[in-house]
Amino acid sequence: MDPELYPHLRAGAPNNFRLPQRLARLPDLAYNLWWTWNSEAERVFRLIDVEDWEAAEHNPVIFLRKTGRRKLNAAARNRAYLELYDHVIREFDDYMRGGSSTWFARDHEAHRNQPIAYFSTEFGLHESLPIYAGGLGILSGDHLKEASDLGVPMVALGFLYTQGYFKQHIREDGWQEARYTTLSFADLPVYPVLDMAGEPLTISVDLFDHFILARLWRVQVGRVPLYLLDSNVEANAPLDRSLTAQLYISDLDLRILQEIVLGLGGVRALRELGYNPAVWHLNEGHSAFMMVERVRELVAADRPFHQAAEAVRASTVFTTHTPVPAGHDAFPYDLIDRYFSAFWPQIGLDRAGFLDLGRHPESWGEAFSMSGLAFNLSGRYNAVSAMHGHVARRMWSSLWPETEPEQVPIRNITNGIHTGTWLARRMHSLYDRYLEHDWAENLDREEIWQAVERIPDEDLWAVRRHLKRKLMAFMRERARRQWIPGGLHPVQIVASGVLLDPYALTIGFARRFATYKRANLIMRDPDRILRLMNRHGRPVQLVFAGKAHPADEPGKLLIQEVYNVIKRSENGGRLVFLEDYDMNVARYLIQGVDVWLNTPRRPNEASGTSGQKAALNGVLNLSVLDGWWPEGFNGSNGWAIGGTEEYEDAQAQDDADAESLYQLLEEEIIPLYYDERSSDGLPREWLARIKESIRTLAPRFSMRRMVKEYVETMYVPALPEPEQV
Ligand SMILES: *Cc1c(COP(=O)(O)O)cnc(C)c1O
Repeated sequence: MDPELYPHLRAGAPNNFRLPQRLARLPDLAYNLWWTWNSEAERVFRLIDVEDWEAAEHNPVIFLRKTGRRKLNAAARNRAYLELYDHVIREFDDYMRGGSSTWFARDHEAHRNQPIAYFSTEFGLHESLPIYAGGLGILSGDHLKEASDLGVPMVALGFLYTQGYFKQHIREDGWQEARYTTLSFADLPVYPVLDMAGEPLTISVDLFDHFILARLWRVQVGRVPLYLLDSNVEANAPLDRSLTAQLYISDLDLRILQEIVLGLGGVRALRELGYNPAVWHLNEGHSAFMMVERVRELVAADRPFHQAAEAVRASTVFTTHTPVPAGHDAFPYDLIDRYFSAFWPQIGLDRAGFLDLGRHPESWGEAFSMSGLAFNLSGRYNAVSAMHGHVARRMWSSLWPETEPEQVPIRNITNGIHTGTWLARRMHSLYDRYLEHDWAENLDREEIWQAVERIPDEDLWAVRRHLKRKLMAFMRERARRQWIPGGLHPVQIVASGVLLDPYALTIGFARRFATYKRANLIMRDPDRILRLMNRHGRPVQLVFAGKAHPADEPGKLLIQEVYNVIKRSENGGRLVFLEDYDMNVARYLIQGVDVWLNTPRRPNEASGTSGQKAALNGVLNLSVLDGWWPEGFNGSNGWAIGGTEEYEDAQAQDDADAESLYQLLEEEIIPLYYDERSSDGLPREWLARIKESIRTLAPRFSMRRMVKEYVETMYVPALPEPEQV
């Protein structure tokens, strides 16, 4: 067993906490994100002191440093607490030692010592580690957690951003402000990777005229190590120090350097750490320079370019994530000249040959495409839903000029979500009670979920009402905390949800504010939606959340447009914008609303995963048939907005979809929620629909199903026979 892959100890993690001896293992939990997907482990921190835990924003490193010695001593003497503590530590140790009894160890035993490297620009693991912006990051984070659960021998690479992603504030006029803070890495659940001499391990990337250095940090995700590059080292020029300050720099000159650090630096980092990955997985094209570095290594070892490129292809898997052309990085040729003219001779290419590696659809203009590079130097590629696969095959068909678009070898593996991360504790208890006792081990099996029919309506409804109350209490507490320091207009407090009714039909819409996602679709006829919200005896509430990329002016205008309707008093305070969407807010929302609204302009949504999280918790999806939803919707497990026709005219599409949305609300959703109550007040038909939704969606859109699919159709076929290694 490779100690690097299955570290039982936090070698290098700080242990400068002053803790009672009886609780000496708390830092082991704090420095392994395993606790984030095990609600009992979270309680080991929370129960020491709830208020300190909230004040530390669920960051156990800060919490252990800040919470008082008296509270720790009290916990160390509390019999019930110690029982939980001992139980969780035992579970944790069993988990960390249990690599040999995992699914991967059983089904793919021969490949257990062949590391799979996973590259991504963002990892959404927990709100206390803000190195993610949105869906792509959440997917990477969930992927690592599930790889850990399944025993996949994965090692991951990304960035530790000095400033993390921004915090969002909405001004009274509805304009989004981005607030950046500099993270203190000592307060994060990360620790420096040291070399043999105990000095920070540093790798170097050579550019045409100088070197960029980067340090390495480690995050432990269950059994999976995640290494993060950080160019903020003193020996670097000031500009180079800023390369890992923020996610997705808009300035292309800096952006290409950032991607060079990830691609070239990432390969060098893994080599320094002693890894020889057998498969390399790029989550999106940003890290595609990783492949030219591997080609360079092979050419330096005397392989001709074509052989080297073939070897790299055979061991590389590429996942493409967006059908929107602007979502694909492309660099002007002068930047490629500047940074790669000394590089291409090293791999036996001339300028034309190198530029040819970044080929992309002719219609996109003259630029070097990172996705093009990724397609050219990978051997296996996939899109992230069936719909997206169809779009991606047409989009990239120019790379396969001999092939019919539908035969282009881009397959699809539909995204999923990590169950332990997104499932509410109360829902988890319901499943523990009414599904088979080993449901969690078999959660990707459809048979397991048939038993949701056994959950009594009363119990399910009680949990749903509990989760709604929790959401409302969360919004109120947040509003209170924002109100106290002063400086807010009362309308901002109303807009943050203090007037909501926990038992009214509540619709949630939370995602990045990009124009194609059409957050404003439901406001296309503001008077109509305002009328719907205030009907006597059947109120409807609508909660928005989401950030616009700081450089996306249309996205920010969209927030402002929505906010202006939110500020209108006629909505009765039932229209809300919850600031600063992150994983914590996401958890409350996807667990605590009744209906999850999704209105992208077809076919622009690659997959989407928030609706999958919602479904797992008994929230019903109301969505355009885009992304994952055409695979999920069966006519009775949620609702489909609009049909499957393709529009030339975006206005006509928006009109038709808005009309369909209003009709569904007026004729089906609101009556089903309010009118179909049995004599005991339970909405029996609504509950039946929830059960149908959980039964049909939970197994298929799980991260478990997804990672198994990656292993079986992408990783294992790319692995060499072990004896040849
Ligand atoms: C799940 C999640 C997303 C992605 O959801 P989409 O459906 O793709 O919009 C984005 N941000 C956060 C914080 C999430 O939890």
